[in-house]
Amino acid sequence: MTAEQAETITARADATARAVIECAADAIVAFGPDRTVMLWNPAAERMFGWTAAEVVGLEPHIIPEELKAEHNAVLERVREGGHISFATRRIHKDSTVIDVRIDTSALVDGVGEVTGWVNVCRDQDGRDVPYSGRWTHTSVIRILTNPRIAGLNMLPNSDEIIGEGNWAPIITPETWAAVKDILADPRRAAPRGKVSLGGFLFYCRCGARVQYDTRYRGRKGDPGRVSIPIYKCLEYTSKAEGRPGPHVTMAASQIDRYVEMRLLDRMREPEAAQIFARKSETADVPKLRAERKEISDGLARMAGDEAMGLLPRAIYLDAAKRVTARLDEIDAMIADAGKIDATALLLGADDPADVWDRLDVTVQRQIIKNVMHITLKPPGCGCRNPDLTQLVRVAWREPT
Ligand SMILES: [Zn+2]
Repeated sequence: MTAEQAETITARADATARAVIECAADAIVAFGPDRTVMLWNPAAERMFGWTAAEVVGLEPHIIPEELKAEHNAVLERVREGGHISFATRRIHKDSTVIDVRIDTSALVDGVGEVTGWVNVCRDQDGRDVPYSGRWTHTSVIRILTNPRIAGLNMLPNSDEIIGEGNWAPIITPETWAAVKDILADPRRAAPRGKVSLGGFLFYCRCGARVQYDTRYRGRKGDPGRVSIPIYKCLEYTSKAEGRPGPHVTMAASQIDRYVEMRLLDRMREPEAAQIFARKSETADVPKLRAERKEISDGLARMAGDEAMGLLPRAIYLDAAKRVTARLDEIDAMIADAGKIDATALLLGADDPADVWDRLDVTVQRQIIKNVMHITLKPPGCGCRNPDLTQLVRVAWREPT
Protein backbone atom coordinates (compact mmCIF):
# COMPACT_ATOMS: atom_id res chain seq x y z
CA MET A 1 0.00 0.00 0.00
CA THR A 2 1.43 3.40 -0.92
CA ALA A 3 1.53 6.28 1.54
CA GLU A 4 -1.04 8.04 -0.64
CA GLN A 5 -3.46 5.09 -0.46
CA ALA A 6 -3.01 4.90 3.32
CA GLU A 7 -3.75 8.62 3.58
CA THR A 8 -6.94 8.27 1.52
CA ILE A 9 -8.13 5.44 3.76
CA THR A 10 -7.37 7.47 6.89
CA ALA A 11 -9.15 10.54 5.50
CA ARG A 12 -12.19 8.48 4.55
CA ALA A 13 -12.26 6.76 7.94
CA ASP A 14 -12.04 10.19 9.61
CA ALA A 15 -14.97 11.48 7.55
CA THR A 16 -16.99 8.39 8.41
CA ALA A 17 -16.15 8.66 12.09
CA ARG A 18 -17.22 12.30 12.05
CA ALA A 19 -20.53 11.39 10.39
CA VAL A 20 -21.16 8.64 12.96
CA ILE A 21 -20.42 11.02 15.85
CA GLU A 22 -22.74 13.63 14.34
CA CYS A 23 -25.68 11.27 14.03
CA ALA A 24 -25.08 9.22 17.20
CA ALA A 25 -28.03 8.98 19.58
CA ASP A 26 -25.69 9.08 22.58
CA ALA A 27 -24.10 12.28 23.74
CA ILE A 28 -20.37 12.13 22.90
CA VAL A 29 -18.02 14.53 24.65
CA ALA A 30 -14.24 14.48 24.20
CA PHE A 31 -11.82 16.27 26.52
CA GLY A 32 -8.31 17.39 25.66
CA PRO A 33 -5.25 16.76 27.84
CA ASP A 34 -6.05 19.96 29.76
CA ARG A 35 -9.56 18.50 30.37
CA THR A 36 -11.35 21.19 28.39
CA VAL A 37 -14.04 20.17 25.88
CA MET A 38 -12.70 19.29 22.41
CA LEU A 39 -15.78 17.70 20.89
CA TRP A 40 -19.48 18.04 21.68
CA ASN A 41 -21.86 16.26 19.31
CA PRO A 42 -25.48 17.22 18.48
CA ALA A 43 -26.80 14.56 20.90
CA ALA A 44 -24.79 16.27 23.68
CA GLU A 45 -26.42 19.57 22.70
CA ARG A 46 -29.82 17.93 23.03
CA MET A 47 -29.02 16.16 26.29
CA PHE A 48 -27.33 19.04 28.12
CA GLY A 49 -28.80 22.13 26.44
CA TRP A 50 -25.43 23.77 25.70
CA THR A 51 -24.34 24.18 22.08
CA ALA A 52 -20.87 23.09 21.00
CA ALA A 53 -19.93 26.76 20.46
CA GLU A 54 -20.74 27.49 24.10
CA VAL A 55 -18.56 24.76 25.59
CA VAL A 56 -15.65 23.85 23.29
CA GLY A 57 -12.37 25.00 24.83
CA LEU A 58 -13.89 25.34 28.29
CA GLU A 59 -14.17 23.13 31.35
CA PRO A 60 -17.53 21.35 31.03
CA HIS A 61 -20.41 23.17 32.76
CA ILE A 62 -22.37 19.98 33.23
CA ILE A 63 -20.60 18.36 36.17
CA PRO A 64 -22.21 19.02 39.55
CA GLU A 65 -19.76 20.63 41.96
CA GLU A 66 -19.85 17.64 44.31
CA LEU A 67 -19.08 15.21 41.46
CA LYS A 68 -16.01 16.97 40.03
CA ALA A 69 -13.72 14.78 42.14
CA GLU A 70 -15.45 11.67 40.76
CA HIS A 71 -15.02 12.95 37.19
CA ASN A 72 -11.29 13.56 37.73
CA ALA A 73 -10.79 10.21 39.46
CA VAL A 74 -12.43 8.39 36.53
CA LEU A 75 -10.16 10.16 34.01
CA GLU A 76 -7.12 9.11 36.06
CA ARG A 77 -8.31 5.51 36.33
CA VAL A 78 -8.64 5.01 32.56
CA ARG A 79 -5.32 6.72 31.80
CA GLU A 80 -3.60 3.32 31.58
CA GLY A 81 -6.24 1.93 29.21
CA GLY A 82 -9.58 0.17 29.39
CA HIS A 83 -12.82 1.95 30.04
CA ILE A 84 -15.16 2.66 32.94
CA SER A 85 -18.92 2.67 32.80
CA PHE A 86 -20.63 4.39 35.71
CA ALA A 87 -23.98 5.87 36.69
CA THR A 88 -23.89 9.48 37.79
CA ARG A 89 -25.61 12.83 37.42
CA ARG A 90 -25.07 15.79 35.16
CA ILE A 91 -26.68 19.22 35.04
CA HIS A 92 -28.70 20.51 32.11
CA LYS A 93 -28.28 24.12 31.02
CA ASP A 94 -31.69 24.84 32.59
CA SER A 95 -30.16 23.57 35.87
CA THR A 96 -32.22 20.38 36.08
CA VAL A 97 -30.31 17.30 37.18
CA ILE A 98 -30.14 14.39 34.73
CA ASP A 99 -29.38 10.78 35.68
CA VAL A 100 -26.89 9.45 33.15
CA ARG A 101 -24.69 6.46 32.45
CA ILE A 102 -21.25 7.44 31.19
CA ASP A 103 -18.66 5.29 29.44
CA THR A 104 -15.23 6.85 29.71
CA SER A 105 -12.04 5.86 27.93
CA ALA A 106 -8.74 7.57 27.25
CA LEU A 107 -7.56 8.74 23.82
CA VAL A 108 -4.04 7.49 23.26
CA ASP A 109 -1.78 8.53 20.41
CA GLY A 110 0.62 6.31 18.42
CA VAL A 111 3.35 6.41 21.09
CA GLY A 112 1.08 5.73 24.05
CA GLU A 113 0.65 9.30 25.25
CA VAL A 114 -2.78 10.22 26.59
CA THR A 115 -4.15 12.99 24.36
CA GLY A 116 -7.56 13.24 26.00
CA TRP A 117 -10.67 11.31 26.95
CA VAL A 118 -14.02 10.41 25.46
CA ASN A 119 -17.28 10.28 27.41
CA VAL A 120 -20.30 8.59 25.88
CA CYS A 121 -23.36 9.57 27.92
CA ARG A 122 -26.84 8.21 27.78
CA ASP A 123 -29.96 9.09 29.64
CA GLN A 124 -30.02 6.56 32.48
CA ASP A 125 -33.59 5.41 32.04
CA GLY A 126 -34.26 6.45 28.47
CA ARG A 127 -36.87 8.95 29.52
CA ASP A 128 -36.93 12.41 28.05
CA VAL A 129 -38.77 15.25 29.67
CA PRO A 130 -40.19 17.40 26.90
CA TYR A 131 -38.04 20.47 26.81
CA SER A 132 -39.26 23.29 24.66
CA GLY A 133 -35.96 25.15 24.73
CA ARG A 134 -37.70 28.40 25.58
CA TRP A 135 -38.09 30.20 28.85
CA THR A 136 -41.31 29.37 30.61
CA HIS A 137 -42.81 30.66 33.81
CA THR A 138 -41.78 27.42 35.49
CA SER A 139 -38.19 27.38 34.25
CA VAL A 140 -37.62 31.00 35.31
CA ILE A 141 -39.01 30.30 38.78
CA ARG A 142 -36.93 27.14 39.07
CA ILE A 143 -33.73 29.03 38.35
CA LEU A 144 -34.53 32.02 40.56
CA THR A 145 -35.31 29.73 43.48
CA ASN A 146 -32.15 27.65 42.99
CA PRO A 147 -29.91 28.12 46.07
CA ARG A 148 -26.85 27.92 43.85
CA ILE A 149 -27.32 31.51 42.71
CA ALA A 150 -26.87 32.52 46.35
CA GLY A 151 -23.68 30.47 46.54
CA LEU A 152 -25.35 27.71 48.51
CA ASN A 153 -24.73 24.05 47.85
CA MET A 154 -27.61 21.62 47.93
CA LEU A 155 -28.14 17.92 47.66
CA PRO A 156 -29.07 16.87 44.14
CA ASN A 157 -32.77 16.19 43.60
CA SER A 158 -33.71 17.84 46.88
CA ASP A 159 -34.04 21.28 48.39
CA GLU A 160 -31.76 20.46 51.28
CA ILE A 161 -28.98 23.02 51.60
CA ILE A 162 -25.73 21.46 52.76
CA GLY A 163 -23.59 24.57 53.18
CA GLU A 164 -21.79 27.15 51.12
CA GLY A 165 -20.40 26.21 47.72
CA ASN A 166 -16.93 27.24 46.57
CA TRP A 167 -18.24 29.48 43.78
CA ALA A 168 -19.07 33.17 43.90
CA PRO A 169 -22.68 33.92 44.83
CA ILE A 170 -24.63 36.07 42.36
CA ILE A 171 -26.81 37.52 45.12
CA THR A 172 -26.64 37.38 48.90
CA PRO A 173 -28.37 34.48 50.64
CA GLU A 174 -30.70 37.04 52.32
CA THR A 175 -31.80 38.47 48.98
CA TRP A 176 -32.23 35.00 47.58
CA ALA A 177 -34.37 33.92 50.55
CA ALA A 178 -36.53 37.04 50.17
CA VAL A 179 -36.97 36.45 46.42
CA LYS A 180 -37.80 32.81 47.07
CA ASP A 181 -40.49 33.82 49.57
CA ILE A 182 -42.06 36.23 47.09
CA LEU A 183 -42.00 33.65 44.30
CA ALA A 184 -43.54 31.00 46.53
CA ASP A 185 -46.71 33.09 46.78
CA PRO A 186 -49.38 30.92 45.14
CA ARG A 187 -51.00 34.02 43.65
CA ARG A 188 -47.97 34.14 41.34
CA ALA A 189 -48.93 30.87 39.70
CA ALA A 190 -48.63 30.96 35.92
CA PRO A 191 -51.68 32.51 34.35
CA ARG A 192 -53.43 29.69 32.63
CA GLY A 193 -55.23 32.03 30.29
CA LYS A 194 -57.40 30.25 27.81
CA VAL A 195 -55.22 27.15 28.08
CA SER A 196 -56.88 25.87 31.23
CA LEU A 197 -56.57 22.32 32.41
CA GLY A 198 -60.16 21.38 31.67
CA GLY A 199 -61.45 23.82 29.06
CA PHE A 200 -62.95 21.82 26.13
CA LEU A 201 -61.59 18.68 27.80
CA PHE A 202 -64.03 18.07 30.66
CA TYR A 203 -67.72 17.35 30.04
CA CYS A 204 -70.94 18.70 31.45
CA ARG A 205 -73.40 16.11 32.73
CA CYS A 206 -75.49 16.84 29.60
CA GLY A 207 -72.67 15.47 27.41
CA ALA A 208 -71.48 18.82 26.03
CA ARG A 209 -67.96 20.01 26.75
CA VAL A 210 -67.27 22.78 29.24
CA GLN A 211 -65.50 26.04 28.43
CA TYR A 212 -63.22 28.06 30.61
CA ASP A 213 -64.73 31.37 31.61
CA THR A 214 -64.55 34.02 34.31
CA ARG A 215 -67.10 34.98 36.91
CA TYR A 216 -66.75 38.08 39.05
CA ARG A 217 -67.56 38.51 42.69
CA GLY A 218 -68.17 42.13 43.75
CA ARG A 219 -69.35 45.21 41.87
CA LYS A 220 -67.54 46.64 38.88
CA GLY A 221 -65.04 49.28 40.02
CA ASP A 222 -65.06 47.91 43.56
CA PRO A 223 -61.42 47.41 44.64
CA GLY A 224 -62.44 44.21 46.41
CA ARG A 225 -63.84 42.73 43.22
CA VAL A 226 -62.30 39.34 42.41
CA SER A 227 -62.40 37.23 39.29
CA ILE A 228 -63.06 33.52 39.63
CA PRO A 229 -62.19 31.12 36.81
CA ILE A 230 -65.06 28.77 36.13
CA TYR A 231 -66.03 25.86 33.95
CA LYS A 232 -69.27 26.49 32.16
CA CYS A 233 -71.22 24.12 29.90
CA LEU A 234 -71.02 25.16 26.26
CA GLU A 235 -74.76 24.50 26.06
CA TYR A 236 -75.54 26.41 29.24
CA THR A 237 -78.56 28.16 27.73
CA SER A 238 -79.83 25.07 25.96
CA LYS A 239 -83.23 23.82 26.88
CA ALA A 240 -83.19 21.52 23.89
CA GLU A 241 -84.37 17.95 23.98
CA GLY A 242 -81.44 15.70 24.74
CA ARG A 243 -79.56 18.43 26.53
CA PRO A 244 -81.72 19.21 29.52
CA GLY A 245 -80.31 21.35 32.31
CA PRO A 246 -79.14 22.06 34.83
CA HIS A 247 -75.82 22.71 33.15
CA VAL A 248 -72.50 23.08 34.88
CA THR A 249 -71.13 26.37 36.14
CA MET A 250 -68.44 25.60 38.71
CA ALA A 251 -65.31 27.25 40.10
CA ALA A 252 -62.45 25.76 38.07
CA SER A 253 -59.46 25.77 40.38
CA GLN A 254 -60.74 23.31 42.97
CA ILE A 255 -61.87 20.97 40.20
CA ASP A 256 -58.40 21.15 38.61
CA ARG A 257 -56.75 20.34 41.95
CA TYR A 258 -59.12 17.43 42.49
CA VAL A 259 -58.52 16.00 39.00
CA GLU A 260 -54.75 16.31 39.46
CA MET A 261 -54.99 14.57 42.82
CA ARG A 262 -57.01 11.67 41.37
CA LEU A 263 -54.60 11.31 38.44
CA LEU A 264 -51.46 11.35 40.59
CA ASP A 265 -52.98 8.91 43.12
CA ARG A 266 -53.73 6.60 40.22
CA MET A 267 -50.20 6.91 38.87
CA ARG A 268 -48.79 5.99 42.27
CA GLU A 269 -50.74 2.72 42.39
CA PRO A 270 -48.43 -0.28 41.98
CA GLU A 271 -50.34 -1.64 39.01
CA ALA A 272 -50.52 1.73 37.22
CA ALA A 273 -47.43 0.97 35.19
CA GLN A 274 -49.05 -2.23 33.89
CA ILE A 275 -52.35 -0.56 33.11
CA PHE A 276 -51.05 2.54 31.39
CA ALA A 277 -47.69 1.34 30.10
CA ARG A 278 -49.53 -0.65 27.44
CA LYS A 279 -50.34 2.70 25.85
CA SER A 280 -46.69 3.24 25.13
CA GLU A 281 -46.25 -0.08 23.32
CA THR A 282 -46.78 1.75 20.07
CA ALA A 283 -43.66 3.77 20.83
CA ASP A 284 -41.37 1.94 23.26
CA VAL A 285 -38.72 4.62 23.58
CA PRO A 286 -36.01 2.55 25.30
CA LYS A 287 -36.46 -0.14 22.65
CA LEU A 288 -36.26 2.44 19.86
CA ARG A 289 -33.11 3.86 21.39
CA ALA A 290 -31.58 0.37 21.61
CA GLU A 291 -32.42 -0.27 17.97
CA ARG A 292 -31.00 3.08 16.98
CA LYS A 293 -27.76 2.34 18.75
CA GLU A 294 -27.52 -1.15 17.26
CA ILE A 295 -27.95 -0.01 13.68
CA SER A 296 -25.70 3.04 14.00
CA ASP A 297 -23.03 0.78 15.55
CA GLY A 298 -23.54 -1.63 12.65
CA LEU A 299 -23.13 1.20 10.19
CA ALA A 300 -19.94 2.31 11.92
CA ARG A 301 -18.56 -1.25 11.64
CA MET A 302 -19.47 -1.40 7.95
CA ALA A 303 -17.86 2.00 7.41
CA GLY A 304 -14.70 0.63 8.99
CA ASP A 305 -14.81 -2.46 6.74
CA GLU A 306 -15.39 -0.29 3.70
CA ALA A 307 -12.51 1.99 4.61
CA MET A 308 -10.27 -1.05 5.00
CA GLY A 309 -11.32 -2.28 1.56
CA LEU A 310 -13.19 -5.31 2.97
CA LEU A 311 -16.57 -4.18 1.69
CA PRO A 312 -17.41 -2.87 -1.80
CA ARG A 313 -18.26 0.80 -1.70
CA ALA A 314 -21.54 0.43 -3.63
CA ILE A 315 -22.84 -2.08 -1.07
CA TYR A 316 -21.79 0.16 1.80
CA LEU A 317 -23.46 3.24 0.29
CA ASP A 318 -26.66 1.31 -0.36
CA ALA A 319 -26.74 0.02 3.21
CA ALA A 320 -25.89 3.46 4.58
CA LYS A 321 -28.82 4.95 2.68
CA ARG A 322 -31.26 2.41 4.08
CA VAL A 323 -29.85 2.70 7.59
CA THR A 324 -30.03 6.49 7.50
CA ALA A 325 -33.68 6.34 6.42
CA ARG A 326 -34.46 3.99 9.33
CA LEU A 327 -32.58 6.29 11.74
CA ASP A 328 -34.67 9.24 10.57
CA GLU A 329 -37.81 7.17 11.07
CA ILE A 330 -36.73 6.17 14.60
CA ASP A 331 -35.87 9.77 15.47
CA ALA A 332 -39.31 10.87 14.32
CA MET A 333 -40.94 8.13 16.43
CA ILE A 334 -38.91 9.10 19.51
CA ALA A 335 -39.79 12.75 18.98
CA ASP A 336 -43.49 11.91 18.65
CA ALA A 337 -43.36 9.68 21.71
CA GLY A 338 -41.99 12.61 23.69
CA LYS A 339 -44.91 14.74 22.60
CA ILE A 340 -47.82 12.35 22.72
CA ASP A 341 -46.96 9.61 25.16
CA ALA A 342 -46.51 12.03 28.01
CA THR A 343 -48.26 9.59 30.33
CA ALA A 344 -45.06 7.56 30.46
CA LEU A 345 -43.39 10.53 32.13
CA LEU A 346 -45.49 10.06 35.24
CA LEU A 347 -45.22 6.30 35.36
CA GLY A 348 -42.20 5.18 37.25
CA ALA A 349 -41.30 8.66 38.43
CA ASP A 350 -40.20 8.68 42.07
CA ASP A 351 -42.65 11.47 42.66
CA PRO A 352 -45.25 11.87 39.89
CA ALA A 353 -46.38 15.14 41.49
CA ASP A 354 -42.96 16.67 41.00
CA VAL A 355 -42.90 15.68 37.32
CA TRP A 356 -46.49 16.87 36.90
CA ASP A 357 -45.80 20.32 38.30
CA ARG A 358 -43.00 20.86 35.81
CA LEU A 359 -45.04 19.93 32.76
CA ASP A 360 -46.47 22.50 30.43
CA VAL A 361 -50.26 22.70 30.71
CA THR A 362 -50.64 21.47 27.13
CA VAL A 363 -48.76 18.29 28.07
CA GLN A 364 -50.83 17.93 31.26
CA ARG A 365 -53.99 18.16 29.16
CA GLN A 366 -52.63 15.49 26.83
CA ILE A 367 -52.05 13.13 29.76
CA ILE A 368 -55.55 13.70 31.14
CA LYS A 369 -56.97 13.15 27.68
CA ASN A 370 -55.06 9.87 27.41
CA VAL A 371 -56.26 8.31 30.62
CA MET A 372 -59.32 10.11 32.03
CA HIS A 373 -62.84 11.09 31.08
CA ILE A 374 -64.09 13.83 33.39
CA THR A 375 -67.77 14.64 33.78
CA LEU A 376 -68.93 17.52 35.97
CA LYS A 377 -72.27 17.53 37.74
CA PRO A 378 -73.73 20.87 38.85
CA PRO A 379 -73.98 21.20 42.62
CA GLY A 380 -77.43 21.60 44.08
CA CYS A 381 -78.78 25.05 44.95
CA GLY A 382 -77.17 26.72 47.94
CA CYS A 383 -74.38 24.17 48.05
CA ARG A 384 -71.43 26.00 49.63
CA ASN A 385 -69.06 23.12 50.26
CA PRO A 386 -69.53 20.86 47.28
CA ASP A 387 -68.48 17.23 47.65
CA LEU A 388 -66.09 16.89 44.73
CA THR A 389 -66.16 13.11 44.86
CA GLN A 390 -69.83 13.39 43.85
CA LEU A 391 -69.54 16.34 41.47
CA VAL A 392 -66.45 15.33 39.52
CA ARG A 393 -66.94 11.91 37.95
CA VAL A 394 -63.73 10.27 36.83
CA ALA A 395 -63.82 7.43 34.33
CA TRP A 396 -60.48 5.82 33.49
CA ARG A 397 -59.91 5.20 29.85
CA GLU A 398 -58.83 1.77 28.75
CA PRO A 399 -55.46 1.91 27.11
CA THR A 400 -55.69 1.70 23.35
ZN1 LIG B 1 -74.52 21.01 29.93
